[in-house]
Amino acid sequence: MRYSKLFGKTTRQDPRDEASVNAKLLIRGGFVRKEVAGVYNFLPLGLRVLNKIANIVREEMNAAGGQEVLLSALQNRESWQKTGRWKDLDVLFKVPSQYKTEYALGPTHEEVLVPVVKNFVSSYRDLPLYLYQIQNKFRDEPRAKAGLLRGREFLMKDLYSFHANEKDMLSYYEKMKKSYKIVFSRLGLEAIETKAAGGTFSRESHEYQVICQSGEDEIVYCPGGDYSENVEIATAKDGQQCILGHGPLKKVKTIEVGNIFPLKDKYSKAFNLTFKHKDGRDKLVMMGCYGIGISRLMGAIVEVYHDEHGIIWPKPVAPFDVHLVHIEDPGTESWVKETYEKLTKAGIDVLWDDREDARLDSRQSRQVSAGEKFADCDLIGIPVRLVVSKKVGRGKVEYKERDKAESNVLQLDDLVKRLNLL
Ligand code: ATP
Ligand code: MG
Repeated sequence: MRYSKLFGKTTRQDPRDEASVNAKLLIRGGFVRKEVAGVYNFLPLGLRVLNKIANIVREEMNAAGGQEVLLSALQNRESWQKTGRWKDLDVLFKVPSQYKTEYALGPTHEEVLVPVVKNFVSSYRDLPLYLYQIQNKFRDEPRAKAGLLRGREFLMKDLYSFHANEKDMLSYYEKMKKSYKIVFSRLGLEAIETKAAGGTFSRESHEYQVICQSGEDEIVYCPGGDYSENVEIATAKDGQQCILGHGPLKKVKTIEVGNIFPLKDKYSKAFNLTFKHKDGRDKLVMMGCYGIGISRLMGAIVEVYHDEHGIIWPKPVAPFDVHLVHIEDPGTESWVKETYEKLTKAGIDVLWDDREDARLDSRQSRQVSAGEKFADCDLIGIPVRLVVSKKVGRGKVEYKERDKAESNVLQLDDLVKRLNLL
């Protein structure tokens, strides 16, 4: 991709109306633009990252037997009245229609999915069943000042599991815990599994918390890895000794990136979702639900991986594999093109900064220096920067990783091998 053609460009100035690091860097880098507080538009660079996160989640949900669906955002008011959440869920958006009806704008999807599943589940043979979607959710959050961390519209993966008994539900719940660990580690994040209250869903749930000073949550956890609880409910205290001898417990700020709930029969009861048991009796279906904040994860990754110059994307979610810069000198014009084509042919995703030093940058009406190009590389945060120049020589590039200070010169063939190993 040629940078000159890319829709969305970098800006030097921090946006005036954003306080969070993730919003500042994502806006300056040309990833997102704010619509209104808590609502963001994703530009091509941003959508690349969001899709990479979503696809990693999708692969792991498929591996856990999930079937993908896409449920409605405009939802039947009566279903929400049936569960009592039309009244009780304070963040619910209610959308009036000119035709004397009102809709719920989906903040979660039990009220939609359970009635749909009721059409197809009647016997124990139809269970278990695992359905998920990756879709925008809407919540009328009181504060939306943390960029992608707290949206009023945001992308979530929600999986719902349906079982013949509680034992089967709990065993899938344990399986999903393992899937979540894999998802977050593939994204380059350490997410601490944390005991928490069940909210409107159930007595207890498990949250996945990423340690980060700018997070809104707080956990008390054992650095040895055998205990973590949200401080809102925790009985243990900061500094208390871990019973397994790992030393003192620590209280830290965190970002909640996922949450799983054993719903049991809460929603199957509300909609009378039953199945015929082997013994001929009708029984309520047991359910679990499992959420991951996809767009929040994008914000969380920026909060965790950045420095004073910009974002440092982990490779699996980076918008491109390499950022290619050309320092112009007469006679070297074809070198950068050769490099771009060779890498692209090898299946490497290249963002090529093809703005030329002597040419006017149409948007800023001024020339772009090599220094500015390097600053943009640091701001955008692609894991590898490559420089083609007379000094480096034909058929070679200067190679530098975003999170390292040193660079070295590589032959193009060696470069392709190195990139494939990363
Ligand atoms: P919070 O406590 O942060 O308000 P929640 O516990 O109400 O979130 P869940 O219903 O558990 O949220 O939603 C599942 C996941 O969706 C969360 O773990 C989080 O990653 C993400 N999420 C929830 N609310 C938002 C939001 N307003 N903006 C972005 N992501 C969100
Ligand atoms: Mg939660």
